[in-house]
Amino acid sequence: MENTCSQTPEQDALITERQHSIVTTGNTKTSINCTDDSLAGSVSQRACVFCGARVVLNPVTDAVHLVHGPIGCAAYTYDIRGSLSSGSEMYRRSFSTDMKEKDVIFGGEKKLAACLAELAEKHHPPAIFVYSTCVSGMIGDDIVAVCKEASLTYDIDVIPVESSGFISGNKIVGYRAAGEALLRLITPKEGEVIEKTRKLNFLGEYNLGGEKWVVERYLREIGIEINVAFTGDSTVKALKKAPGSCLNIVQCTGSMHWVANQMYEAFGIPYLDVNFFGAENTAESLRKIAAFYDDPEISARTEALIEREMQAVKDVNEKYRKSLEGKRAAIYVGGAFKAFAIIRQLTELGMEIVLTGTQTGKKTEYERMGSLLNEGTVIIDDANPAEIEKFLIEKKVDVMAGGVKERFLAYKLGVGFIDHNHDRKDGLIGFEGAIRFTKEVYATTCSPVWKYVRHEYGETDQ
Ligand code: SF4
Repeated sequence: MENTCSQTPEQDALITERQHSIVTTGNTKTSINCTDDSLAGSVSQRACVFCGARVVLNPVTDAVHLVHGPIGCAAYTYDIRGSLSSGSEMYRRSFSTDMKEKDVIFGGEKKLAACLAELAEKHHPPAIFVYSTCVSGMIGDDIVAVCKEASLTYDIDVIPVESSGFISGNKIVGYRAAGEALLRLITPKEGEVIEKTRKLNFLGEYNLGGEKWVVERYLREIGIEINVAFTGDSTVKALKKAPGSCLNIVQCTGSMHWVANQMYEAFGIPYLDVNFFGAENTAESLRKIAAFYDDPEISARTEALIEREMQAVKDVNEKYRKSLEGKRAAIYVGGAFKAFAIIRQLTELGMEIVLTGTQTGKKTEYERMGSLLNEGTVIIDDANPAEIEKFLIEKKVDVMAGGVKERFLAYKLGVGFIDHNHDRKDGLIGFEGAIRFTKEVYATTCSPVWKYVRHEYGETDQ
């Protein structure tokens, strides 16, 4: 955000050390503090490193996900994504070594080995992901050695995910741990040959409410097949074929750019950034992919699909725009790619973005974000509830788009809310998702309920 932002003038009520993580778009030279560890005691909206790893890996449908830690870590991330499966439902179970005091004192490796034996014998999974947590990391359990031993004994992939919650105050470190686990899984064993295909891999797509299937349908219509998504509705077998693809498309850049770069280095697969949230973004992404294949028939089918689908979105947007024009919106989401898409969608509906931010945005992403917003918009990195509440009130927000932790803040203040969380069960992707999004924005922003809750910001009938 260099050259475009100033520190927000309303700093007095904020934690001093957080002041450089909050900026207002404007004309002075100040750049936002981001990608740092969360400030201890600030009650960040971010999740922990382990949670970051689990949201990336959990949609691998037929793998066993074993959390090596106290039961709370597994409960916290149980069925954490709204990812749908076309086959196995194994991923929706949550296994834990349920570490207790005795394990902390004497070590948890034996218990982990026993759990792996039980899981391998009872469920015969093609792979087991073993997540380290704060407690197992702190006492120094060697999960890498235990996993290696179990892999040899049961002849399956037993993959350590080194995601102890305390290793960083930023969940993006968990994305990296998950990425390393995925690379370990897909790297061909010595002598193994993966067949090359014209298919593509869809990285950073988690099939929430069947979103991967929507994009798969569009791509199939234009003549392109998805090899496997990382990781929505994926299987271990399909992931192992990923090195044979001719292209990676990357949607959630925060979780998958590193993996895409590694796959380029290791297997020579190029990648393109895509974004299927919002109709304009979907059209642009389809055109980008079609251009890569450089086939006139694919290009013609792409244009025909876009023309057909765009008309339906335009009709719906026109209908609701009248009611939404001029309403004030806030956005706080996990990754920047999602924030970009929501900014674009709400702006197309005539709404004014007055507050935005992310949990894991990078400097370059915040710079781009600043360029999309009007002067005076507050941008927060790694927000906490007090900051969000303060700006929802000060900016007189009508509707907020965010995740599960923001929902209740908005409702308590009588602010409409759009759920864009990773546990959604209704997809928001593609042209049909854009239509659903517009209808949801209208329903919540213009709901008559708010007149009974929000007399003035922060004042409600008790
Ligand atoms: S890994 Fe640590 S921070 Fe994360 S849920 Fe477990 S105890 Fe909590």
